[in-house]
Amino acid sequence: MTTFCSDKLQKITTPFYYYDSVLLEETLNEVKKREAAYSNYEVHYAVKANANNTILQKIQQKGFGADCVSGGEILAAIEAGFSPNKIVFAGVGKSDWEINVGLDQNIFCFNVESIPELLVINELATAKQKKASIAIRLNPDVKADTHANISTGQKETKFGIYFEDMDKVLDVLRTCDAIELIGIHFHIGSQILKMDNFVSLCQRINQIQDHLEQVGVQLKHINVGGGLGINYTDPEQDPIPNFADYFAVFNTHLHLRDTQKLHFELGRSIVAQCGSLISKVLYIKEGVNKKFAILDAGMTELIRPALYQAYHKIENISNPQEEYEEYDVVGPICESSDVFNKNVKLNVAKRGDLIAIRSAGAYGEVMASGYNCRTLPKSYFSEEV
Ligand SMILES: *Cc1c(COP(=O)(O)O)cnc(C)c1O
Repeated sequence: MTTFCSDKLQKITTPFYYYDSVLLEETLNEVKKREAAYSNYEVHYAVKANANNTILQKIQQKGFGADCVSGGEILAAIEAGFSPNKIVFAGVGKSDWEINVGLDQNIFCFNVESIPELLVINELATAKQKKASIAIRLNPDVKADTHANISTGQKETKFGIYFEDMDKVLDVLRTCDAIELIGIHFHIGSQILKMDNFVSLCQRINQIQDHLEQVGVQLKHINVGGGLGINYTDPEQDPIPNFADYFAVFNTHLHLRDTQKLHFELGRSIVAQCGSLISKVLYIKEGVNKKFAILDAGMTELIRPALYQAYHKIENISNPQEEYEEYDVVGPICESSDVFNKNVKLNVAKRGDLIAIRSAGAYGEVMASGYNCRTLPKSYFSEEV
């Protein structure tokens, strides 16, 4: 559980990201322990959740692989020490230079999302006299009970190839000498808390595997992506997600063949709870029927509330003893969507108070922008302050 030393944090220029290294370490140890219960499971950290170099190093040092969605992420992962043979590379729009980065670094696997991409990888690998290992990202048409903007596994999202097209893919693959098909890949969405969604994914994969075996295709690797959700409402209640239950779902419902390896790509569940955005109250402004707490952080530092109506717990860490009052907590950016939340119960706030926006370690710092000519936020780790 993260505790804040407001005296020390008060001295740092706001807004900034604060990472609880102890919680991150405990979370990583828990994933490792639960993963180790199954000899054939391999977890790749989804770099897009948080590509902060110190975070990447801490995760890499525990021996995890990396899941990348751009050439820049591959380079960031390698710079932080991730081993290329544990890097997987997904994305619907891989540029030629990004594919070449993957080929030059000899990454473990390209997760391919379309037939035209397959042909380009084959061409670029041929030019380098290399063989690219690939998995086909299949769209399982499985529902994820989450926000529409972070749901990826249903028909007519841009991600993946429909299973009905798999025979076509296999035909094309027979003409691609510079490609080896090693697996199939899935990712149904993010912030998924209903284990039933993952059960449905397993059942779908079982059908797909049966079909592939009937047409003579045997695969060494199944990759089920990421998506395990976290408790945004009450981070103290669940600082570490239930990885044991999550892995157990796949052990129970997915029929892996004897020599098959199962890969996971976890992002949010690993890094979300260890991070908070720390900001100062600039002004308390009286509205007609409400009060606004105007912060020096806004959607430029944390865009999730504006982008997908995401909920983050907000706390006044300067005055934990004060009684509560309701505020609309807003940022300084010139957009009406720059609101962290409305009718938030905070300990009575005044100019200069420190506000912690919790569970911001995933899709927070990494999505920061320079809109309104703002500077990108700095980050600090608990051992530094
Ligand atoms: C975003 C993403 C992930 C990670 O999702 P989380 O919800 O953060 O666990 C994994 N795989 C792919 C392909 C992704 O795009």
